[in-house]
Amino acid sequence: MACALCLKELPLCASHIIPEFMYKSIYAPGNHRLSWIHSKDDLFDYRHKTLQKGLREALLCRGCEDQISQYETYVVGVFGRQRVNRQVTFDQQAGGLVIQNLNYQKFKLFELSLLWRSSVSSLIDFEQIKLGKRHEDRLRQMVLTGQPGEPHEYGCGIFRLVYANQADADGLICSPYRTRSEGIWQYLFVITGLLWMFNVSSHSPPRDWVASFVQRDGVQVVWNMPLLDVVGPKLIGKKFT
Ligand SMILES: [Zn+2]
Repeated sequence: MACALCLKELPLCASHIIPEFMYKSIYAPGNHRLSWIHSKDDLFDYRHKTLQKGLREALLCRGCEDQISQYETYVVGVFGRQRVNRQVTFDQQAGGLVIQNLNYQKFKLFELSLLWRSSVSSLIDFEQIKLGKRHEDRLRQMVLTGQPGEPHEYGCGIFRLVYANQADADGLICSPYRTRSEGIWQYLFVITGLLWMFNVSSHSPPRDWVASFVQRDGVQVVWNMPLLDVVGPKLIGKKFT
């Protein structure tokens, strides 16, 4: 089988689609069960799924795996429990968080690799993330050649999901799903209480949307968003209040 990124016929790794560190905060102590909400048809059919190391698929050769893992290592250094990156600053403000001094290239390429992997994955959990050949090819080239593109290109807004009392909704992960707004396809990933909302179109999204994407000067604003706006009252009433 050919590597999905470099297209060379090489032995393939068992690649993560969503990097394991993104799941970490919801691994229960003592076992590796996690709360997983399947979003098929927006019904949010709640279920448990036992995972040892997240979802994997034979996708990338060793070299491409290592290339993508550089971006993951950077993001772990910024957000992980043992933060090693001290350049990045976090400024809590009313209604959100302003992150400064991010490495635009590494952070954006991490985001692009997540979106691209999900689109090329054949796992059922990613069935709603299908960008089509043109966008998949463009993303593959960007990730392969280390080109992050402009902020509006495949821009990703990041939101912190909160309950009505403003507490973090951090025990929550959904199968990624898509929606459409202003003529733009949006691909949504809810991972440990953060919503990563990718915007995919051939034209630039509205300016205020672009302001919520990571900027070339390394600024990313993470606004709070009520959980109710994302998953609906049915789910919240069932499990997550
Ligand atoms: Zn490869």
